[in-house]
Amino acid sequence: MNSTDGAGRAFDHRFWRIILLTAAAAAVAVGIFCMFGSARLRTLTASYDAKLSAADPYGGYAAMIDRLGSLQDENDRLTQLKGEKSAAYDAAVLNAELAQARYDSISEKVGRPDSVNTTAELRQLTEKYEQLSAQTDALSIRYMDAVASQPQDGKVAYLTFDDGVSSNTLRILDILDRYGIKATFFPNWHSGRDELYRAIVDRGHAIGNHTSTHEWSSVYSTPQTFSEEVSSLSQNIYEITGVYPKIFRFPGGSNNTKYRANAAEEWKDTDEETFRLIRQDISWLYINGYMYFDWNVDSGDASGHGVPAQTIIDNVLSGAAGKQRAIILMHDTAAKDTTVDALPAIIEGLKAQGFEFGVLTAESGSSQFIKPRLD
Ligand SMILES: [Zn+2]
Repeated sequence: MNSTDGAGRAFDHRFWRIILLTAAAAAVAVGIFCMFGSARLRTLTASYDAKLSAADPYGGYAAMIDRLGSLQDENDRLTQLKGEKSAAYDAAVLNAELAQARYDSISEKVGRPDSVNTTAELRQLTEKYEQLSAQTDALSIRYMDAVASQPQDGKVAYLTFDDGVSSNTLRILDILDRYGIKATFFPNWHSGRDELYRAIVDRGHAIGNHTSTHEWSSVYSTPQTFSEEVSSLSQNIYEITGVYPKIFRFPGGSNNTKYRANAAEEWKDTDEETFRLIRQDISWLYINGYMYFDWNVDSGDASGHGVPAQTIIDNVLSGAAGKQRAIILMHDTAAKDTTVDALPAIIEGLKAQGFEFGVLTAESGSSQFIKPRLD
């Protein structure tokens, strides 16, 4: 009985030792599994968060949707007045759809932060995000197409002057007055020249925004520097003239090659997401009610120093020939005397081609986009 008891106790001992060792081994295995599992989850969460903040660093898409309400009122008013729906409204609806889709992709995550517990769920959300991103890109392109393809009555030329104001601004304004023509100015910020900004507005021309400094390293560094460059100039112009510019031209154009060289490290293009920064800047412009304009006729006055007036005239007139709408790029700087010299012949030549003259406005929906190069 005793020996049996002794053997029984030894057996109990071994039995429990095996159980304990097995349990310890299992615990270690589970621990290791959890450690790697949660590291994987953390990596996925971090990459997802990065994508979200890249999509909406301002958290401003909701504001865009709110604006649709006032645009709708405006459209009702126009419908009553003119008996027709405005082209700008159609564009705005697409714009709002774009904002809505982006907003959905944000609130998808924000709305259920506690429920993202498993890698499977996170993967699902990431897929959903990718899907919505593709959708918003498609909407963005539809929007640009809709705006670019608005039908126009008659031939319209838009004279545009970038980089002012300058010692040539008044000369340009006097020539325009002489012909009774209105133009569009996209100046930068030059302090102490308030009277020139005022003269542009007082004489009935459109004033836009071409960034405060025009410095590539500042304008195209991050979404924040871009928005500051635009906002500070608009604010200055507003304080001087009472007009808050709502039209914009990218320094170098919207398909410029300066982004790649000047983007801050965290905004540099990757193979995965090319032109992330310019798409972000375009979103910011839309959200803040700006319409951006490129050009389809280049006067070539920026191609060198003292480009002969006749060359500028020839560039404009041959570039505009055959077009219904000509958005003409010229410059208003101290060095561009020959642009001013060329202006009377440009105006007369365009008139002879049957053009009338218009100014660019955010509401006209008559933008000629050069689409950002996505390839
Ligand atoms: Zn410029």
